[in-house]
Amino acid sequence: MSTPERFEGSFTQQEPIPEEAIEAALAVLHHGRLHRYNTVPGELGEAALLEQDFAAMTGARYCLAVASGGYAMGCALRAVGVGPGDAVLTNAFTLAPVPGAIASLGARPVFVGVTEELVIDLDDLEARIADGGARVLLLSHMRGHVCDMDRLMAICRAADVTVIEDCAHTMGAAWRGVPSGRHGTVGCYSTQTYKHANSGEGGLLVTDDAGLAARMILLSGSYMLYERHIAAPPAEAFADLRWEVPNVSGRMDNLRAAILRPQLSRLEERVVRWEAVYRAMESGLWDVPGLTLISRPEGERFVGSSFQMLMLDQPPEVVSAVVAGCAARGVELKWFGPEEPAGFTSRYGAWRYAPSVPMPRTDRVLAGLLDMRLPLTFSEEDCAQIARIIGDEIRGVMSAQRGPAA
Ligand SMILES: *Cc1c(COP(=O)(O)O)cnc(C)c1O
Repeated sequence: MSTPERFEGSFTQQEPIPEEAIEAALAVLHHGRLHRYNTVPGELGEAALLEQDFAAMTGARYCLAVASGGYAMGCALRAVGVGPGDAVLTNAFTLAPVPGAIASLGARPVFVGVTEELVIDLDDLEARIADGGARVLLLSHMRGHVCDMDRLMAICRAADVTVIEDCAHTMGAAWRGVPSGRHGTVGCYSTQTYKHANSGEGGLLVTDDAGLAARMILLSGSYMLYERHIAAPPAEAFADLRWEVPNVSGRMDNLRAAILRPQLSRLEERVVRWEAVYRAMESGLWDVPGLTLISRPEGERFVGSSFQMLMLDQPPEVVSAVVAGCAARGVELKWFGPEEPAGFTSRYGAWRYAPSVPMPRTDRVLAGLLDMRLPLTFSEEDCAQIARIIGDEIRGVMSAQRGPAA
């Protein structure tokens, strides 16, 4: 028997920072004015310029750059008035910083189920809203899957629920032509290394609401220097708020902003490349028995920075054997099945600070959910090889499961 093929690439290796971004960063380092409000007369700092760029890119009136995606969500929630004890609806299938942002305000996450398409279950959302109590939904477009945003917004508008979008995986995505983050009242993005633009850590907020923009700028720690922002409302919007909004420092600095601006101008080109690697992976996995791929709806423009698939209704031993077999051949699959949180996967039941009731339909999906990153350092050939290995391992495990052929 020949040795089985092995994938030698890295699932966590992003592309290098573009040369132009490195030069912009060096310019900031040379002049030394890293703090966003440390500008000379007439100078527009990189952070303010980044906000201007991103507002233009998303078509938002206002934009604020902050320290992380998690900070962005906490800031938005606080700005819309979430406080201690408040119930905040959010996805049961998401990443830990999402319920964490809610908990950071002393508020209480109320989880909404996930469908087999990996989007928020809108029927469950209606039921949870009907339970009463929650006035805000922190909607997580987890792993870049965008739900029917028209229906979601209709449900939330009818019930007077404010929508804040977590777009950590949808920067560059859209629903029926509207950029992700522009349906809700506030859109929150992350520029952490594993997202769609890389400044190590970082976050962005967009909104059309002047009062909220002013609140978020003050919250982020503007030291009354808010007039140095460009994508911000006029000074009048701050006049009363500046006395009552606390400073909860979480600014972005000029160095990170300098690194990000040239990356944002390349985002569109990167989204196109991500789609190509995503489709290469998908076409390699279509016909694997026992594997369900996620269909992408017509109205969705997605960013294929990660890939998900389901081994529905398989015993955990089968799924874990596939994960182990793939790992031994260099293919890192993350599995949302185990109770024990590991790496970047965790289930709603693992967030014990936020009591939850079991959700059987969601549990069924999570028990079969396999996930992998698709960094742009992967070629389409890499994806074809990874798909071959996954297909091989699944077929092998499933046939061992059935026992020796008669
Ligand atoms: C990464 C991520 C965030 C924000 O993360 P930070 O690490 O705080 O920038 C938010 N939501 C989801 C779903 C994420 O994956």
